[in-house]
Amino acid sequence: MTSSDWAGPIARLAGADRLLVALDFDGTLAPLVEDPAASRPVPPAVQALARLARLERVRLALVSGRPAEDLARLARPPEGTALIGSHGAERGRMAGGSAVLEPVALSPAREQRLRSITAALTRLAGAGAGAWVESKPFAAVFHTRPMADRLAAAQLEAEAAELGRELGGHVLRGKMVVEVAVLPVGKSAALARLRRSADADRLVFAGDDTTDELALRTISPPDLGVKVGAGPTAAELRLADPWAVGSFLAALAAAIEAHPNR
Ligand SMILES: [Mg+2]
Repeated sequence: MTSSDWAGPIARLAGADRLLVALDFDGTLAPLVEDPAASRPVPPAVQALARLARLERVRLALVSGRPAEDLARLARPPEGTALIGSHGAERGRMAGGSAVLEPVALSPAREQRLRSITAALTRLAGAGAGAWVESKPFAAVFHTRPMADRLAAAQLEAEAAELGRELGGHVLRGKMVVEVAVLPVGKSAALARLRRSADADRLVFAGDDTTDELALRTISPPDLGVKVGAGPTAAELRLADPWAVGSFLAALAAAIEAHPNR
């Protein structure tokens, strides 16, 4: 059952010896906007992240579908924040104000596959006014947000997903986006890895999209899953928007600061 009351879950998380706070970016810390380059976190979220980063018992992570370098530049999280980009294909950390990433090289076969997928999706985008393709280091992303005809957009999205699978890609569908990656991806695997490397005994993860929902389904108490916005979810807690996420994170920081376990 999803609730909007966070007092109980926060009390549970505040007692952790080490808490991993993992957050999606777009739609979770930053309002969704038409131009992905214009996305910015809301001020209450920025302030709450800075406060959480000062706590010794907290490990912060941003887990996004964006390329990690974009994520670092737009989100500007505190130093030391773990960065998971491209739905888990890229891993790194915030250092000196930018992303320092573990190197990942694509095999020639995967590079070729990415070129074929990008070309096929670009041809398909020509069939819908407003559809466009974004190139990422390990994926091509088919966007339909600018399309006025939602019915035609949904049909193109279905075709893009089918095309991606036919060409051997890993397909992730989000809100008005179809991402076709050439590396295995997924936020639940990324969260499990983060948790091991942070040696965390509690985890909170917040996300807004269908790709986050796959991870939210794997989270249960004493951990906490948070769904941002409307739509069906397996998460225990629901928050309305990035401003509410900012308030929640501030309340979490206050509870940890006040907790005797320090
Ligand atoms: Mg999102």
